[in-house]
Amino acid sequence: MTEAFKSALSRRSFLRSAGAAGMAAASFPALAAVPSAGVSQSARAVAENERTGLLAQDDGLVSISMNEYPLGPAQSALQAMAATVETGNRYHGEIVQQTLSAALDLFSLNRGYAALFPGSTGALNLALMAHLGPDRPLIHADPSYEQGPAAADVAGAPKFAVKLTKTHAHDVRAMVAATPKAGVYYIVNPNNPTGTVTPKQDIVWLLKHKPKGSVVIVDEAYHDFSNEESCIDLVAADQDIIVTRTFSKIYGMAGLRAGLMFAKPEYFQRMRALSPFAPSLASVSAATAAGANAVLLDKDLVPLRRKINADNREATIAFLSGRGYSVLPGSQANFFMVDVRRPGGEFQNEMVGENVLVGRTWASMPTYVRVSVGTRSEMARFQAAFVKCMDQAPAPANGAMLRGVPAYNSALNPSELSRHAAWGGLALG
Ligand code: PLP
Repeated sequence: MTEAFKSALSRRSFLRSAGAAGMAAASFPALAAVPSAGVSQSARAVAENERTGLLAQDDGLVSISMNEYPLGPAQSALQAMAATVETGNRYHGEIVQQTLSAALDLFSLNRGYAALFPGSTGALNLALMAHLGPDRPLIHADPSYEQGPAAADVAGAPKFAVKLTKTHAHDVRAMVAATPKAGVYYIVNPNNPTGTVTPKQDIVWLLKHKPKGSVVIVDEAYHDFSNEESCIDLVAADQDIIVTRTFSKIYGMAGLRAGLMFAKPEYFQRMRALSPFAPSLASVSAATAAGANAVLLDKDLVPLRRKINADNREATIAFLSGRGYSVLPGSQANFFMVDVRRPGGEFQNEMVGENVLVGRTWASMPTYVRVSVGTRSEMARFQAAFVKCMDQAPAPANGAMLRGVPAYNSALNPSELSRHAAWGGLALG
């Protein structure tokens, strides 16, 4: 590994951990830079962008591969977490309750219709495992996020992959036609990796036409970036639907681990029956819960970040399209797909050579890579690296190898899901 790359990595991991450890460190500039409540949107946008500069400061490596949000946690979250860390000797069950109440209020739900998890991955697994089995198949889209199929493999459930429509929405009619028996319809909205949305009316249609006893799981990890209506109100209406949300994306709290699941109480009972230990495994730290509570109450935050993301995404897409590169249209998320006209894994590795980590590729779209939207300056560096790598002939030369760093490719890094493989060392025994 080169010295430059090593120090870029270590600076980056310092900055990352500073997001959590620095909660108590008033000297960390990111903590002080952004005014929160009571300032105008434009003043706040300027301050957020300045803070972005601090986080992204010439740290060598542009990491736009995992759909993380580049601005870090909001100032409101940092302040709430810092205050809670100081009294971390207490269990603070009341903070989790406050966070849940904030979520229930936000979506006009009754008590018993929401649960807080450390991220949405565990919540999704629980919901999937409670409804899949050898005679309860999974129906999912292709290309889409692999969490549904991964759970189906564990549950021994048959899988039906259904191609997206021409506009890259979930093809709900084809999903219902795929099999008369169904356990779970897994809908990712906006979809990962395409960023495209499935209209809510299609999900309403699916709920009406799906076989009895099946459940629709809507993964709204990227919902707040989009202009689409949420499906959480269908939970309030006691429909056969489970909706998950995460604080890992627009709220910039991926490493802090918080997510929400919305479902009618009978589904939560089913999940508890599947694993009586689930509630203890799903426990969220008081500090993270306090941060989650703060951002749920921070009314300006989502619209502001949605706009910053959309501006950076559209500017990047306009640049690429203007140069004649094919970008998959319609993304409403913090990522998009671009055709690199060669196996995506090869291109990823060439970009590593330019110190830019772009996302992976999907088997059904092998020449497209997924690019997450970073800050304006990160996207400028991405653009320069992209053009350089595209303009040179595709070469077997592996950028990672040239730089002496471990190869970053789809074989070694098959999915964001792989991040969880070493959870708590459990996978290592
Ligand atoms: N759902 C989708 C569609 C995702 O892309 C991801 C992560 O990338 C997740 C769920 C899980 O995220 P987390 O466990 O951080 O909430």
